[in-house]
Amino acid sequence: MSTVFEPDGGVASAQSATRLRDSFGRAITDLRLSVTDRCNYKCVYCRTGNEGAQYTELPIEDYVRMVRIMVSLGIEKVRLTGGEPLLRSGLVEMVADLARLRTAYRADGSRLEPGEHGEPLDIALTTNGHLLESQAAPLAAAGLSRVTVSMDAVDPETFARITRVPRSYERVLAGVHAAQAAGLGPVKINCVLLRGFNEAQIEPFAEFSRREGVIVRFIEFMPLEEPSAVPDARTWKPETVIRMDEILGRLNAWRPSCSVPAGLVELPPRAASETAKRYTFSDGVGEIGIVAPVSQPFCGHCSRVRITSDGSIRTCLFSQSDHDLYGEMLRGGTDEQLAAYIRRVVMRKEARHHIGEPGFEKPSRNMVHIGG
Ligand code: SAM
Repeated sequence: MSTVFEPDGGVASAQSATRLRDSFGRAITDLRLSVTDRCNYKCVYCRTGNEGAQYTELPIEDYVRMVRIMVSLGIEKVRLTGGEPLLRSGLVEMVADLARLRTAYRADGSRLEPGEHGEPLDIALTTNGHLLESQAAPLAAAGLSRVTVSMDAVDPETFARITRVPRSYERVLAGVHAAQAAGLGPVKINCVLLRGFNEAQIEPFAEFSRREGVIVRFIEFMPLEEPSAVPDARTWKPETVIRMDEILGRLNAWRPSCSVPAGLVELPPRAASETAKRYTFSDGVGEIGIVAPVSQPFCGHCSRVRITSDGSIRTCLFSQSDHDLYGEMLRGGTDEQLAAYIRRVVMRKEARHHIGEPGFEKPSRNMVHIGG
């Protein structure tokens, strides 16, 4: 069901005039919301292949209420994720509901006055793309702003070996093309590189970016996989990570064509909270981003908070615990009470993650059950 929302989310009266910040002064403007922890792929570095969903899903209108309250506190970007978000029925209607919300703060951080209109939210989706071909156009029409498609190879055989789903590459490529045709471009492609698995795909992905007009983002592998009983190639180890320096070295040595000299050209960040270092080639064709949470952590300007499919807030991917926002809702919390709860939780956001440090403890949930 669609609802018309007040520009300020309708909960301004009891809110303080200050936007959501954590105890380190970081403004929290980005929300990642998982709408299911089911997934139709079993990517080798993410899932064991034996486990299914582990958490419940909420009615779509409860997610929308959570987002509305978050927006009233200063959230401006919402990324829908999972699990695989396109498995969730009601997603198009949800995007339409989110598209009616308006930001509650000005660019300088001050709160909008009653009657003043905010901006539409930046609504993004992260998907494996398997079901995107048919859903791209309705999602775009509902108000989706952009889409990120996860692809860990551009070689169909390697792709199917990683996803453990036959003919998945062709499906996903059709999804990317449908997203471009629906006006959701430039499409971002997320690729996680693992040593011994898909590092041969670095240059082919650069070619893919140039040929397909997509932004390719290489993401360093983080210790967020489902636990395996036996340590194997898919279990996180420092040596499995293909680090930013190595990717840059390879791409700097690569020559796109006989008329284009080798060498990357750095692009400026789009925003202070940008997680990717951005590059193009000397002819300006193609874009490569590198997200390096392991070798060059960016926690100092983290602007994110997450809500899991069962309605818990996670203040960091590597948090040791969740905060049960849905429980507060079920206990009858008013919008004002929930907003106060969110503010308290955000004050407990961790300073940084501790990947690779002695004593590092794996987080209390794995990526597929958090929402990446
Ligand atoms: N199913 C959707 C998809 O495939 O994009 C959304 C969920 S998936 C968990 C989100 C992203 O997290 C994907 O791009 C995936 O490659 C990435 N990811 C999963 N496990 C990861 C890990 N251990 N380290 C870094 N990225 C990871």
